[in-house]
Amino acid sequence: ARPLLEVSDLAVEFRARSGVVRAVDGISYTLAVGETLAVLGESGSGKSVGAQAVMGLIDSPPGFITRGSITFRGLELTDLSERQYQQVRGRRIAMVFQDALSALNPVFSVGDQIAEMYRVHADAGRADARDRAIEMMDRVHIPSAAQRFGDYPHQFSGGMRQRIMIAMALALDPDVLIADEPTTALDVTVQAQIMELLAELQRDNGMGLILITHDLGVVADVADRVAVMYAGRVVETAGVDDLYARPAHPYTEGLIASIPRMDLDRQELQPIEGAPPNLARIPPGCPFHPRCPRARDRCAVDEPPLYDVAADRGSACHYWAEVLSDHE
Ligand code: SF4
Ligand code: MG
Repeated sequence: ARPLLEVSDLAVEFRARSGVVRAVDGISYTLAVGETLAVLGESGSGKSVGAQAVMGLIDSPPGFITRGSITFRGLELTDLSERQYQQVRGRRIAMVFQDALSALNPVFSVGDQIAEMYRVHADAGRADARDRAIEMMDRVHIPSAAQRFGDYPHQFSGGMRQRIMIAMALALDPDVLIADEPTTALDVTVQAQIMELLAELQRDNGMGLILITHDLGVVADVADRVAVMYAGRVVETAGVDDLYARPAHPYTEGLIASIPRMDLDRQELQPIEGAPPNLARIPPGCPFHPRCPRARDRCAVDEPPLYDVAADRGSACHYWAEVLSDHE
């Protein structure tokens, strides 16, 4: 079946006076109807920039899409004018950001903000828009939604504000929801509740969900498939169970080895040495080679493509077969 969303060899550059930053340099992934794809990476790996490109938000200096394609139900999004993009952004593909407080307007009630967004985009009357806002507040489990319609953002907790952002994103019934670190600003219990809510809504709506995160724990709980990003590239794609049981890239191996495990002593944790590269100065060859425990001479000069490892699995490591076989 045709994927809902397909990102293929997408590259994004930011051109500043100090030089060119290749924030995204050839990422590819697909999202099927009803699927949850986690885009996993450290900060600065390009995972948010890739999502902004899908939302059509990289369309003016200093950011440029320099290569690749983004198709939604077969429609090439990179060819759309801003006017055409407005039919897609928010309606067919919606996004929730990390920081709900700065995304909400402090001087309007949350109900009015959801209703107004709905009224404008769905061309609805005021009464219908108000009903839709209350319905959506209820769907994200805001207690006494109708009574809280007129409350302002500061009258809600961080977790409730994030629920309101999710309500707003889903009010137009999008086919794809992109959630960029939606729980990072929240405490751990609330994080779990928000992830549970996203999973519930995803099941009920049958939408595709792209979850951008640096948290492997979140990935294990909710994702069907994972795209692991490093230095603006996708370095591994796999089903979530395969990824954990048999990683095919040394970076993924390192991430998994660094998860604290109850059954191991603290000193057995193996964090990955070093830091991710500055995107203005990505190392030649394999961008992971300065940190890679498996690196050899070839890795410093020869950049690996995303090799096909199996059906629906890829690894950007020349030695993926060796990595895999070490996890047999
Ligand atoms: Fe490591 Fe070389 Fe594989 Fe890159 S290509 S991940 S440096 S072994
Ligand atoms: Mg980010």
